[in-house]
Amino acid sequence: MVSRVIPVDSFDLVIFGGTGDLARRKIFPALYRRFISGQMPEGSRIIGAARSDHNALEFRALIGQAIREFGGAAAQIDNKLKEFLDNLDYVTIDAKGTNGWSELAGMVRKDLVNAFYFSVAPSLFGPLAERLHAHNLADQTSRIVVEKPFGRDLKSAKELNAILALHFDEEQIYRIDHYLGKETVQNLMAVRFGNILFEPLWNSQYVDHIQITVAETVGVGGRGGYYDKSGAIRDMIQNHLMQLLCLIAMEPPSRFDPNSVRDEKLKVIRALEPVVPHHIVRGQYDATQTEPSYRDDAGDPKSRTESFVALKCEISNWRWAGTPFYLRTGKKLKARASEIAVVFKDAPHAIFGQEAGRHRNILIIRLQPNEGMTLGVTIKEPGPGGMRLVDVPLDMTFADALGPEAAEAPDAYERLIMDVVRGDQTLFMRGDEVEAAWKWTDPIVQGIAERHDVPKPYKVGTSGPDDANLLLKRDGREWREIRE
Ligand code: NAD
Repeated sequence: MVSRVIPVDSFDLVIFGGTGDLARRKIFPALYRRFISGQMPEGSRIIGAARSDHNALEFRALIGQAIREFGGAAAQIDNKLKEFLDNLDYVTIDAKGTNGWSELAGMVRKDLVNAFYFSVAPSLFGPLAERLHAHNLADQTSRIVVEKPFGRDLKSAKELNAILALHFDEEQIYRIDHYLGKETVQNLMAVRFGNILFEPLWNSQYVDHIQITVAETVGVGGRGGYYDKSGAIRDMIQNHLMQLLCLIAMEPPSRFDPNSVRDEKLKVIRALEPVVPHHIVRGQYDATQTEPSYRDDAGDPKSRTESFVALKCEISNWRWAGTPFYLRTGKKLKARASEIAVVFKDAPHAIFGQEAGRHRNILIIRLQPNEGMTLGVTIKEPGPGGMRLVDVPLDMTFADALGPEAAEAPDAYERLIMDVVRGDQTLFMRGDEVEAAWKWTDPIVQGIAERHDVPKPYKVGTSGPDDANLLLKRDGREWREIRE
């Protein structure tokens, strides 16, 4: 397979918060990999803008070090690194003051694509947007990229949307959810809408239930105090898991364009039923002999914030009425694994008798690690001995099916940043989508607070609290094992 690099126009990309953790770990390594792939046109430039004092040379050294540390295999191609770093510039700027703004205005070339990445705390979104306009840095063609968290509830999300809308049209705002940039997520749409095979079965008549799992092995570590103000529902369910649920459940859009896709996703969120209290299980990880508990990490011995949550959701529309969606996510679980499992119903009549056992088709969409898809199908076990059935996976793991180049497909940040330069918003969240997601999430969080619910403790390296298993057991179902 020959990888195709689609050319983009030359750009000036300003990264506010260019010295921060996200910029160093994700954004610059992603840009570097695109540079190596030949997708950064000549004359393009990346300008870091942050509070600390650096000149361009010091900034290049800082980013060079970050790329070596976080850039993976590509970062080892050293002669390319210097070439890349030569395209970097830096300005010391105060997002809330006047320092650095006229200097930045003198750097950005208006005749190129201009994008401004807000890799800073959301409290700076307003001041940045305001100053970009006050200093004539932004016009109708500029784009801004904003990071999560986009609010912590409906009210704050509306406020952020309103602040940005004062200075930018919705078509200029790129709200990142990096889960949407994953290869498998787009492949999910290709599989659903590019084949006739799946869509007729994609409804409550044939799908028993759907599981979405995002499991991490890390705890909240050093950022426990920060995490404790949000928790798994706000940090993961409201955005990442909700986005995956939308892509799985949405109706086929009439076209694969940004607003057609996002209109359909929005309809899914609006059709979500409120979650009843006994369909929510929250947990906090315990201490081990060597590692602190969640409450220790959070620095609050009475914290009621969850590091794990499992939910049963229902979508009230013709396609999905009667098919539950089970979502779960947590920290310090037994493996790092993100996947969606579409579990189909049993065949209506078992012609092979009891001893053939129960066999179900399951479509697994793997987001990490080993991005890819497998479809479990039932076949006859080869050899003599009668009609014994066995489930085998039809493996669509990209590396196996399409060659090693496919496994090296751009990572989520690479793809999304290039989509910004291209002006394609399909894989970004629209303002009304984010608000609808908070509108559904708010009552869940409020209900928990009003009931003074205390999360259940769970052991590190497990699948979360036992109650999460009961949530499915009550329905005669079980979670898939969490494994890499
Ligand atoms: P960070 O604290 O490491 O970096 C913050 C950056 O903002 C620094 O470059 C700093 O100089 C700059 N900054 C702060 N105040 C400023 C001011 N007044 N004027 C100009 N620059 C200022 O933060 P981070 O981890 O890089 O996160 C940035 C944003 O991305 C946050 O909103 C965070 O929630 C979000 N985010 C981070 C991650 C991650 O993995 N780090 C993941 C997802 C989202």
